[in-house]
Amino acid sequence: MEIGILGGGIAGLSVALALHQQGYRPRVYERRAAPATMGAGVTLWPNAGFVLQELGLLRDIEAVGGRPVMAHRYDAAGNALGGVDIALLDRTMGYPTQTVLRRDLQAVLLKHAARAGIPVEFGHRAAAIDLDAHGKAVAHFENGVSIRPDLLIGADGRMDSVARKFVAGDNTPIYQGFVNWIGVAQGQSALVDDIAIQDFWGAGTRFGCVAIRTDLLYWAAAQARPLPGETSTSGIRKEIEDLFAGWPEPVARIIRATPAHAIRLIAVHDLEPLHTWSRENVLLIGDAAHAPLPTSGQGACQALEDAWHLARCLEGAGGSLDEVFQQFTKIRSPKTTKLAEQGRIFARALFAMDPEACRIRNERAKASNPVRDVQILAEGWAQGLPMPLNAGGMPVDGVGVSSLYAPE
Ligand SMILES: Cc1cc2nc3c(=O)[nH]c(=O)nc-3n(C[C@H](O)[C@H](O)[C@H](O)COP(=O)(O)OP(=O)(O)OC[C@H]3O[C@@H](n4cnc5c(N)ncnc54)[C@H](O)[C@@H]3O)c2cc1C
Repeated sequence: MEIGILGGGIAGLSVALALHQQGYRPRVYERRAAPATMGAGVTLWPNAGFVLQELGLLRDIEAVGGRPVMAHRYDAAGNALGGVDIALLDRTMGYPTQTVLRRDLQAVLLKHAARAGIPVEFGHRAAAIDLDAHGKAVAHFENGVSIRPDLLIGADGRMDSVARKFVAGDNTPIYQGFVNWIGVAQGQSALVDDIAIQDFWGAGTRFGCVAIRTDLLYWAAAQARPLPGETSTSGIRKEIEDLFAGWPEPVARIIRATPAHAIRLIAVHDLEPLHTWSRENVLLIGDAAHAPLPTSGQGACQALEDAWHLARCLEGAGGSLDEVFQQFTKIRSPKTTKLAEQGRIFARALFAMDPEACRIRNERAKASNPVRDVQILAEGWAQGLPMPLNAGGMPVDGVGVSSLYAPE
């Protein structure tokens, strides 16, 4: 079976690797001319750790990633609001949490793709998909190339997915009322004391920083605001410094240790859940299927899970793509929909402007039970994966986060 994959991001490259493990020969088509060097980092929680291990990538990620032990929450004055014991989460789920720069994650995925002989065709921007006379999808690229694989996987992200437009008729992302500035801080010496996630909450503002090493961190500063128009990068660092002036260290230190040209502003969008992720021989995965807000903390992790599950569904199928698509959607839809909802709920609490709402949010976070929170996270994030949870725990309804606020 010929398999074409639109998009060489986390979903596209990881599904290519998972399918290659099953003996398929997928081909990836990426719009960029070369691997991306921009972007900050991602936290790959233990459910992603499981998939990385299955794909044979975990060692290489460990070599470039950080192993955080705690996620600490604070208010904007530096008062502690509890946190997540990541070391306990990792022990409970049996796999490590890793913090990693996007460019390093991408390099590991590309290295393994090259080793497996998976062709990644850069400079191939899909422009449209239509059907041939036999009802088979044909993807047309801007460079004049067209492909007609037996299975076409749409892994072309959240902002303008050609595959999603073909499957759902619409691919309009929804602005969720806040922006992120993202960056990577590299210090001459340590910028923080330990490998941890630190998350500072204000009123309509947030600063989250994630250590990979004590002198290397990625961060996201966020503010509730109307959808920005065209933005320029000049003065970008000064704007952030002013916005977070007076916030506790290491906030100012981290902003200062980030070159202004490496800071990027993102108007944060997500996508409405879909009833179906497939049409004819086209299947959506990753953000193109179910982009959650970064506040879910799980977008990349879910893209990796898609890769693993799709390979399993194809393995067990009797040959009908329809069956594969149905089974895949049945497994993946409830979990990803729930995580997307939780991302929105958390974003509403996080970017509340009303002081009383912020006070209640902070009190709830402070009063949360850290052991129970880990149990809730572990049970939610392990859902659908063969990850035996090590700690005996209370039964938990659904996926993830209730009294707990997951960091990005
Ligand atoms: C600020 C921020 C922080 C985040 N932090 C985390 C985190 O800590 N943990 C986590 O799990 N998730 C996190 N996420 C979410 C995560 O980044 C995404 O969910 C993840 O990247 C999805 O992978 P993907 O491959 O589906 O999409 P993408 O990574 O967007 O990749 C899509 C690829 O398709 C290509 N493409 C697009 N259109 C076309 C086209 N027409 N033709 C060909 N190629 C095309 C793109 O160039 C890109 O390479 C965060 C997101 C943001 C915005």
